[in-house]
Amino acid sequence: MERIKMTTPLVEMDGDEMTRILWKMIKEDLLEPYVELNTEYYDLGLEYRNETNDQVTVDAANATKKYKVAVKCATITPNAARMDEYHLKEMYKSPNGTIRSMLDGTVFRAPIVVKGIEPCVKNWKKPITLARHAYGDVYKNTEMVIPGPGKVELVYTSADGTETRELVHNFTGAGVAQGMHNLNGSIESFARSCFEYALSTKQDVWFSTKDTISKKYDHTFKDIFQDIYDKEYKEAFEKAGITYFYTLIDDAVARVMKAEGGFIWACKNYDGDVMSDMVSSAFGSLAMMTSVLVSPHGYFEYEAAHGTVQRHYYKHLKGEETSTNSVATIFAWTGALRKRGELDENSSLCQFADRLEKATLATIEKGEMTKDLALITSLENPTVLNSREFILAVRKNLDVLYA
Ligand code: NAP
Ligand code: MG
Repeated sequence: MERIKMTTPLVEMDGDEMTRILWKMIKEDLLEPYVELNTEYYDLGLEYRNETNDQVTVDAANATKKYKVAVKCATITPNAARMDEYHLKEMYKSPNGTIRSMLDGTVFRAPIVVKGIEPCVKNWKKPITLARHAYGDVYKNTEMVIPGPGKVELVYTSADGTETRELVHNFTGAGVAQGMHNLNGSIESFARSCFEYALSTKQDVWFSTKDTISKKYDHTFKDIFQDIYDKEYKEAFEKAGITYFYTLIDDAVARVMKAEGGFIWACKNYDGDVMSDMVSSAFGSLAMMTSVLVSPHGYFEYEAAHGTVQRHYYKHLKGEETSTNSVATIFAWTGALRKRGELDENSSLCQFADRLEKATLATIEKGEMTKDLALITSLENPTVLNSREFILAVRKNLDVLYA
């Protein structure tokens, strides 16, 4: 078979530990036999980040701006223990944080839905993608413990020195107070990322806040979303046959529980923090969750939502067998290859991505899976495969699709 060619490179960011091992297997066994991979490679493994003083992460983010599509392996976020383990020169920031702030992006997390791994919520048939605003609100708050009677006010001093005041509360006893903020620019980027991603995946967008109670703060979010939608996206949405829908957060929660799935749920920072854990655990497994960073400028970076699976890596180093689930990492690659194919009008690359996903799901549906899934599957007598065997089982099913 002639291998599929790629006209434009994809930015490839390698990573750490067990996911680095899976990365290599996926490339060798599932991608390279079919595709003449054209990637610009950046090694975000902690050793090389340390060697380059983390410059490699910055270079990888810049390359993503250039080529628009990236695929990333899970990476270690250094902490005190990692400082010793890797003899680090400094405690580098999380690569995901660095990349997110350089691309000004929003992270969308979506579960991989497959027969045999049933969501706890019976009527969820399609994935629910959660988009969380990653700036401000309670995560950048200022808090005060109020010891006793007194007045708390919000004061805005404009550039020319004029003051505007709002009373928070006239305390007659002890209590607490907090001030928080957000930025129109950040909310606008969030809105555009959501609308871009909706168009790119042909899914509706639901956005929810509590604007009936928060008449200025949350209402600003609602207005910015509506304004950007009307001015920049309405026509494209109508053409694509998708909708934008705003509702109150409590109404959204009720509707999500009764829905089939198949939409993007955009949430403010705190709501997204809470709801993403609810949605992902209800869908089954962290190892079946993908994550894509979408920037309002149309850059896409795909990865698995889980970490480097450190515990399995140490077993691997001791020569013990591992049964690590590679599905989310495979889907990070298919997401990126499909997007590359779409942008380059390379239909055979898109078709390859579809087929690899199909082969991966078929493997699980036939009862062949890694240990984490075998523990929760509704299929009877699943076959538990080790890390490599699972990838080879996917390869077999993929070969059938190309036969
Ligand atoms: P983790 O890699 O997400 O793994 C936590 C546990 O979840 C594993 O020990 C394993 O449970 C299970 N698990 C996760 N992914 C799995 C998979 N693909 N297959 C099977 N089981 C899976 O989190 P961690 O071990 O706490 O963190 C390791 C490193 O990852 C940290 O240095 C952290 O900084 C980094 N991290 C990176 C990213 C990222 O790059 N996006 C995200 C999160 C964390 P059992 O051990 O019970 O089998
Ligand atoms: Mg959380």
